[in-house]
Amino acid sequence: SKARAAASAAGASYEIDLPNLNRPMTTRFPPEPSGYLHIGHAKAALLNDYFAHKSSGTLICRFDDTNPSKEKMEFQDAILEDLGLMEIVPDKISYSSDYFQVMYEFALKLIQDGKAFADDSELGKGDEDRKIRLPSKRRDLSIEETLKYFTEMKAGSKEGLRWCIRARIAYDSPNGTLRDPVIYRCNPIPHHRTGTQWKIYPTYDFCAPILDSYEGVTVALRTNEYRDRNVQYEWMQDALGLRKVTIWDFSRMNFIRTVLSKRRLTRIVDDGKVWGWDDPRMPTIRGIIRRGMTVPALREFILKQGPSRNILNLEWGALWALNKKYTDHDAARHTAIVQADAVTCRVLGVDDQNIISKPKYIKNLELGTKKVVQNKAVLLEQIDAQGLEEGEEITLMNWGNAYVRRIVRDESGQKSVTEINLELHLEGDVKKTKKLSWLAAVESNLVPVDIVSFDYLITKDKLEKTDKLENFLASNTELRTQAFADCNVKELAKGAIIQFERKGYYKLDVAYGEGERMVFFDIPSGKT
Ligand code: ATP
Ligand code: MG
Ligand code: MG
Repeated sequence: SKARAAASAAGASYEIDLPNLNRPMTTRFPPEPSGYLHIGHAKAALLNDYFAHKSSGTLICRFDDTNPSKEKMEFQDAILEDLGLMEIVPDKISYSSDYFQVMYEFALKLIQDGKAFADDSELGKGDEDRKIRLPSKRRDLSIEETLKYFTEMKAGSKEGLRWCIRARIAYDSPNGTLRDPVIYRCNPIPHHRTGTQWKIYPTYDFCAPILDSYEGVTVALRTNEYRDRNVQYEWMQDALGLRKVTIWDFSRMNFIRTVLSKRRLTRIVDDGKVWGWDDPRMPTIRGIIRRGMTVPALREFILKQGPSRNILNLEWGALWALNKKYTDHDAARHTAIVQADAVTCRVLGVDDQNIISKPKYIKNLELGTKKVVQNKAVLLEQIDAQGLEEGEEITLMNWGNAYVRRIVRDESGQKSVTEINLELHLEGDVKKTKKLSWLAAVESNLVPVDIVSFDYLITKDKLEKTDKLENFLASNTELRTQAFADCNVKELAKGAIIQFERKGYYKLDVAYGEGERMVFFDIPSGKT
């Protein structure tokens, strides 16, 4: 298609059917500062970034901060950091609250043009009337009276608090979004940026079309659950004689066994189900990055499904599998032995401790070398030990081959191995043998670490709006295992991604010497 040709002409590596990619586009990401960014927001942010910057245009991050009951400075700051984590650099940062005076004047104009009226139906009740397509009993309120109540609202008076302003569009329209939507509310709670200056706040329905036009946005990206709202969006711009803005819909992104509602995520944090917004179980940007997600993987995953308009309920596995592609090459290889499963093993013919040097990863020599401590006593893991037979030739990874000379199994019938003797056979062919992980049983070489795996917080694949969150919260989502790791892990910096050979990839959360045990998080492999 033409759009695809345009996309590839602009050097795009993903085929997204967007309009006018060849012209610089101005897009905006409009987060409400009422929570930290989650992976759903990442889709919106990355698509806006992609459209703007692929076309040499402008990305605006506009804080949709029009509801002081939900918003906080903490969240505003966090969102800017979250964008930074995703390597998204907005060309302009703006705030709906910067435009409260402008918005107020647009509302006055709408009222003076007879296109809006004041309504004092109790909040819920007014919306009930709209559902059954009844006009508000105030629908015919005069311009003068509407202005009078708007003034009361602006003052935040007791009377003003009872009122809102509605656009007079079509109370009986088949499209519910056109049934005289609320455009202004009164709220006496102080705003985190404007303090007590304003007592009236425009709704998102009123703000978005006006500010998109006003700030020079050329393409407004909206999730397609807003599609019914598109005519309402256009109505606002028409009614105020503003430049029209093209809307481009994309699908909301959901994941199985995951909640992506800021209200619910706030509950999970406030109830102490997790350690905080950056908990590795949280679907927040900082949560998934802390767990080991990389930004290029996230970007590729999201942009690859750019054109899809179906509401998605995705599996996490596909994203984690993709992530592996980005972590593998730079992941130093280390060894860990689960403490409870350690079996001591004699290596016959070895007298003294010996330290050799090996590449951290044989396929990426740039990572440098690590120390491998050889010793007459080494630890194996029970599961490996149980698979051995006397007389068998095996390979001690990073050392060489050995024969299994003696295996002692415990009496109780558990078959667990209590003792093993190996005899080195370094001339042996390593291509044909079983590979075993091992660690020299020398105190300086056994670094105690915690390895932590996590499970989903939610027990149901697709949580409905009507489901009660507390009925579907998993009770135990953290599995902590004590292990010994090789001495080289002491040098790793917090945030490092490594592989424990034959186990998987891990992200270092607590580095050595922080006064606690070292902690590694298990990065999901993507295999289900
Ligand atoms: P919540 O329901 O969690 O409060 P929201 O949509 O109200 O989320 P906003 O801060 O208003 O949160 O969203 C900013 C942008 O992110 C909007 O453009 C919104 O459409 C988009 N967005 C939010 N959730 C998702 C999602 N799950 N998938 C795709 N885009 C999303
Ligand atoms: Mg919102
Ligand atoms: Mg929402």
